[in-house]
Amino acid sequence: MFRNILLSNIDIKSTNKSYRKLITVNLFYLVTLSTLIIFSPINFFIRDNYLAGVIEFLFLFPLLYGFFELRKNKNIEKNSIYATVMLFFMLLTLIFFFRFEEYTVIWALLFPFMAINLGGVRVGLIFVIVFNLIIYIGAYYFWQNSDAPFIEFMRIVIVSIIISLLVYFYEKNILESFDNQRTLNESLVKRVKELRKLSITDSLTKLFNKRHFDTVMCDEFNRAKRANAHFTLAILDIDNFKLYNDTYGHDKGNEALVKVGEILNEQTARSGDYAFRIGGEEFAIVLQSDSPNDISAYFDKLREKIVSEKIIHIKNGPSGFLTVSIGIVSVSNYELVSIMDAYRIADKKLYEVKKNGRNSIEVIII
Ligand code: GH3
Ligand code: MG
Ligand code: MG
Repeated sequence: MFRNILLSNIDIKSTNKSYRKLITVNLFYLVTLSTLIIFSPINFFIRDNYLAGVIEFLFLFPLLYGFFELRKNKNIEKNSIYATVMLFFMLLTLIFFFRFEEYTVIWALLFPFMAINLGGVRVGLIFVIVFNLIIYIGAYYFWQNSDAPFIEFMRIVIVSIIISLLVYFYEKNILESFDNQRTLNESLVKRVKELRKLSITDSLTKLFNKRHFDTVMCDEFNRAKRANAHFTLAILDIDNFKLYNDTYGHDKGNEALVKVGEILNEQTARSGDYAFRIGGEEFAIVLQSDSPNDISAYFDKLREKIVSEKIIHIKNGPSGFLTVSIGIVSVSNYELVSIMDAYRIADKKLYEVKKNGRNSIEVIII
């Protein structure tokens, strides 16, 4: 409850700094407004101190203005300075009004807490220095014209300097720790993003990995279903790749996988198209399209493109180059198949291509 009043449901993008200021400035308004509302009538009607009552009453207006202004414009920085200036004049008026009698000067000790918190360390400190100097000059003047011992004047000077310095260093430390925390948070966010990217990337080809494939395949299937679009899934397998490794070595095999990865990446640059490495020499492509007409042409071109890289693979049948086989399913009738069916069908089509001699594609439209 108390928290709600302090924050007054003000939705300020809560950086730590503005959040603290918001609480301080609201506390300031609540305390000063309620103090003045109580003491103004007491001074006026009970203590017969009319002038004090009137001055306190008049201070209510600028305070109420600041209070509602904060709620309207939500400019916490501007309002903090306004509140500091208000406090500056209110305390000086109060202290000088009572002519430094009855220990009124004790109120001056409140100023550094508010000013340095609200104004920030630099502006706040300037406010405090000016405020303290005025208080010292006033206190010295009144001390001279009274019979109080000098130590009473010195006491207020020393205590106010100590408090001001303590508050200043305390605030400075807090702000520094906020900065450190923010830097730490930023680097953590960056690290999490990097880790997320790593967790969905295949380290060799830099394509998306099998883990991401499982997610994207389902998401895209459901998206296409909602959008009444065609969902296409292709599974692509390098032909006789074991023989390639056996002939040219594992490192050359890796280079070939990277090359195929690059081509798939280039060919799926459109947003909504994805390429994955889902196994050793097995890749997948997910596409969304308005019609299935160009699907065959698209994948045949892709297959051609890989052959045209002319990666020598003498043991790969008649072509003599590295080739791929592709099984493709394109779905628009979502009543008939689930995503798992679609995956199985694409895999079956791939198997048929392999059986029929490789370096080809098989498409089924459902
Ligand atoms: P098919 O045309 O029927 O697909 O024959 P294949 O030889 O390509 O198929 P098979 O499944 O028998 O062999 C796949 C080979 O892929 C086995 C393995 O040596 C190779 N392989 C799998 N992962 C990697 C890898 O990360 N790097 C390299 N260089 N080779 C790999
Ligand atoms: Mg293979
Ligand atoms: Mg294979």
